Amino acid sequence: MKNVCIFYTDENRIKPLADRYPGCERIRLTDIRDRAQFAQKEGRDVIFAAPNDLLQEITAACRGLSFASAAVFPPDNGATPDEPIRIDLRKPRLDYMETEICHICNLNCKGCCDFSNLRVDRGFYDFDRFTRDLLRMKELFWGIGKIRLMGGEPFLNPDAADYAEKCREIFPDCDLRIVSNGLLLPSVDLRTLQRLRDCGCSVDISTYPPTAAKRKEIEEAAKRAGIAVNFSVPMKFFFRTILETPVDDPAPAFRNCVFTHCHMMSDGRLAPCSYAACISRLNRFYGTDFPENDYFDLAEPAADGWRIMEAFSKPHAFCRCCGSGAIPYRWQGHVSPDRAKKEDWLIRDTFISRKAAPAIQKLLKPAVIRLRAAIQKKKTGGG
Ligand code: SF4
Ligand code: SF4
Repeated sequence: MKNVCIFYTDENRIKPLADRYPGCERIRLTDIRDRAQFAQKEGRDVIFAAPNDLLQEITAACRGLSFASAAVFPPDNGATPDEPIRIDLRKPRLDYMETEICHICNLNCKGCCDFSNLRVDRGFYDFDRFTRDLLRMKELFWGIGKIRLMGGEPFLNPDAADYAEKCREIFPDCDLRIVSNGLLLPSVDLRTLQRLRDCGCSVDISTYPPTAAKRKEIEEAAKRAGIAVNFSVPMKFFFRTILETPVDDPAPAFRNCVFTHCHMMSDGRLAPCSYAACISRLNRFYGTDFPENDYFDLAEPAADGWRIMEAFSKPHAFCRCCGSGAIPYRWQGHVSPDRAKKEDWLIRDTFISRKAAPAIQKLLKPAVIRLRAAIQKKKTGGG
């Protein structure tokens, strides 16, 4: 036990470890990017007692260092483990990943960013495929900061709890969420909600107008099950994001983008964001020819987590198809395939789309990111 060195960020995090490792060395982290402090402890057993959102950077700072063992504790996941979680620092940590466990939706919003309101070929992410893909992700990354199980509407998948439990089993460190429009939550069976709660999965609720009208009912159902729910700010507007005519330079859109962290796993692929992952749905429905190959093939034996992270941190192929400024319009639900138009997603080349919208988005991006971080941290209701 004397060989253990605990790096920690605040006293509250060290408390649960004090009895477990009496007399061990403790180092308070003031600068998580300072590689030298970690390098001095090579060959030791190290434990990182730090918030979830700092672990990616700590991992990067430790890249190439060799410890006898490494672990994280506590992982902030709502399902407190008894033991520190062993990690493999030869691999990076991905900060965020989303995945669709159900491709269809009950709300069919106009211009859905996953194109769920267009006819999609099948309902659910095949569970065996999902499991294989998660295991492959684990080969590439020691952990994932946040996993969001999305749709379409994930509660249309009757086995939603199986998917969440599998994520928790493979990525015990992650902050796990289901992302729902909330409308079905009051009718989800209690056992499913309790299983989600028990594996430390909370529910992020996108507050569309019909959701806002049902908020009390949703909160009561969540409270009965003891599951935490996090309501977004009211969502009264949606945004057109894809350029009718792609440009040559992907950099301006990437610089202004608020979705650069939204990596999506689907059917053996890891894409930089949901637009790149799901664009084939638009192509298939309207005969457009936006590029469909902006992703990493998880089956590729030479795939490497560090290389993927580096690629995701830079402009990539599909960013050429995104506007540097999204164009807002009033949210509208129940726009099923026969009522949808490709113009619901596409930005025409005008002065507003070329100049005004990018300037506004550049101005608002820092505030949007701050607001999102604040909302994501907050947990309300239920457990
Ligand atoms: S609620 Fe709307 S935006 Fe969300 S998945 Fe369903 S259709 Fe898409
Ligand atoms: S393709 Fe690039 S610019 Fe467009 S949403 Fe994805 S990360 Fe952002």
